[in-house]
Amino acid sequence: MSRPQADPYTEARRRLVRLLKEQGFVRSRRIEEALLKVPRHEFVPPEYRDSAYDDRPLPIGYGQTISAPSIVAYMTELLDPAPGMKILEIGTGSGYQAAVLAELVGPRGHVWTIERIPELAEWARRNLEKTGYSRRVTVIVGDGSLGYPDEAPYDRIILTAAAPAVPPPLEEQLREGGRIVAPVGDYIAQELVVGEKRGGRVVYRRDIEVIFVPLVGRYGWQHNL
Ligand code: SAM
Repeated sequence: MSRPQADPYTEARRRLVRLLKEQGFVRSRRIEEALLKVPRHEFVPPEYRDSAYDDRPLPIGYGQTISAPSIVAYMTELLDPAPGMKILEIGTGSGYQAAVLAELVGPRGHVWTIERIPELAEWARRNLEKTGYSRRVTVIVGDGSLGYPDEAPYDRIILTAAAPAVPPPLEEQLREGGRIVAPVGDYIAQELVVGEKRGGRVVYRRDIEVIFVPLVGRYGWQHNL
C-alpha cells in the first residue's frame, strides 16, 4: 500500500524546529506547533524555496528580507501571544511572522500587519491567502511607525524593522498590561527590547543583540541606506 504523499518540505521543517528547540530559540509547545505548521517555503521567492528551512534570513526583493527562523521563534517567545489576542505587527515583509502569530491567536484573535512597500504588501497578501491565513490577518499599506489607531488597543505589538527608539504611537496603542517587542538601536546593530505597559507607562528590559533592516518612516529613519 502506498503512503499518502507528504509535503516534500515537512521533514526539513521538522528538522529545523528540532534544531531551534535544541538551541533554546523555541521553548514552548505552542510556538513549536505553530512553527511546525506554517509552511515557510510558501513565504520565500521561488528561487529560495530549497533554502526555506535553513536558519538564515533570505532576500524577498526591494532590499528587504524574511527574518531567520531562529529570530522569528525567539521574538515570538518574547511576545508570548495567546488565543483570542489582537496583535499589531510593523513590517509585514513576506507575511511569515504574521502567519505564525495568526496560528497562535487562533480563530478568535486577529493580526493587523503594516508594510510600507505596496508591492511587498500585495505579495504577502497572496502568500497568506494561499496558506489559509488571510481571514485572521489584515495587511495594511502605510507607515507602521504611526501604528494603526483604528483597531487599538492591541494586546501585543511587534516591530520587525529596526527603530532608533520605540515609536510613541505604538506605546499609546498598546493595551494596559500588554507587551511590545522591538529591535532598537542604530543602522548597524540593535538590541531587542521587551516593554510592558503598567499604569499607562511602558517599562522596558533589554534582551539580545540583533540585526534588522531599518524602519523607514515618521518615527523611524528618514531614508533607506
Ligand atoms: N516580518 C517580516 C516577515 O515575516 O517576512 C520580515 C520583516 S523585514 C525584516 C522588515 C520589513 O519592514 C520590510 O518589509 C520593510 O519594507 C518594512 N518596513 C520598514 N519600515 C516600515 C514602516 N515604517 N512601516 C511599515 N513597514 C516598514
